[in-house]
Amino acid sequence: MAEKRDYYEVLGVERNANADEIKKAYRKAAIKYHPDKNPGDKEAEEKFKEAAEAYDVLSNPDKRARYDQFGHAGMSGAAGGGAGGFGGFSGGGFSMEDIFSQFGDIFGGHFGGGFRSSSSGGRRVNRGSDIRVRVKLTLAEIASGVTKKLKINKTIACDKCGGTGAKDANSYSTCSTCNGTGYVTRVENTFFGRMQTQGVCPTCGGTGKVITSPCDKCKGEGTLRGQEVVEIKIPAGVGEGMVLTVTGKGNAARQGGVNGDLQVVIEEEPNAELMRDGNDLIHNLNITVTTALLGGTVEVPTVDGRAKIKIAPGTHAGKVLRLAGKGLPEVNGYGRGDELIVVDITIPSKLSAEEKRLVEQLATQPSFQRAESTKNQNIFERMKSFFR
Ligand SMILES: [Zn+2]
Ligand SMILES: [Zn+2]
Repeated sequence: MAEKRDYYEVLGVERNANADEIKKAYRKAAIKYHPDKNPGDKEAEEKFKEAAEAYDVLSNPDKRARYDQFGHAGMSGAAGGGAGGFGGFSGGGFSMEDIFSQFGDIFGGHFGGGFRSSSSGGRRVNRGSDIRVRVKLTLAEIASGVTKKLKINKTIACDKCGGTGAKDANSYSTCSTCNGTGYVTRVENTFFGRMQTQGVCPTCGGTGKVITSPCDKCKGEGTLRGQEVVEIKIPAGVGEGMVLTVTGKGNAARQGGVNGDLQVVIEEEPNAELMRDGNDLIHNLNITVTTALLGGTVEVPTVDGRAKIKIAPGTHAGKVLRLAGKGLPEVNGYGRGDELIVVDITIPSKLSAEEKRLVEQLATQPSFQRAESTKNQNIFERMKSFFR
């Protein structure tokens, strides 16, 4: 291999050129040496690749710094480490595919999409569309995790032709639009002047073949409307709006392409007694005046059934009792939230004559002579722990 040229020299920029100047220089070189402008010109192709490599290094501040310090020798160690770039140079430079995949950046998306170099040999692959379904879960299901069987209406691969859309192996002929190459040449007037670009053949989708005798069951599509039962394991602790993706369980693609994905959107069924706050659950508990005064045992709902809790004598309204670990599990890890029980006291709004007489009698007793002023501090502390 010939000695590598200096990257700055390749792009024709000064060593202190800024990012914009480097981009501009690369754009110029890429247009000049573009293979579609220089068909069959090996030298132009080499120059084109050389410019792309130079741009890859000089447009990346880390790689550029290493290159400035160590020259080409500093770059060999970059193999495999290039985050997002071309991933190093150990494989003997760039493929044309790599270069074109970067064009979206340089040319503002003009070359994106179906644009491919004639030398890349790539093929557009049909991909089925994704399907989105919503799944309603109860709090109990969220607490424990659940496996759901979902019946999905979707396109499935045709069983008669195996998804190919063809009657049999002899049902193909060479595509006449592209003469079997899979690509068509377009002349476009672009921002940079007239350019010849090659795109995937719209007739055959890049395969170079067309079906002459389509499968009679799917009319050549390779897909049929159908149903599939998909089993999905939903982990404990999921929340409203979370999306779980099941790869390859979406719609089947035309003529044997790649299946889309199934996206499962989680919905929480509201619970009448337990309100979710992150991984904690909140329950508003009403107790009678007498339980508040005398204490007692009451039943509360939890995600795993009813539980009995003790109310201490003299419990105030607004007191928060914590059932540690009775909340929801953390979806991506260990630990569980708590259940918080907020106490309220039911004051009877109507009393019978007898009840009134008893309460009036009670009112004369020493413990009922004085109303304590509420300490604001307490209320704030309580609210803080509540709305944490
Ligand atoms: Zn078929
Ligand atoms: Zn074609």
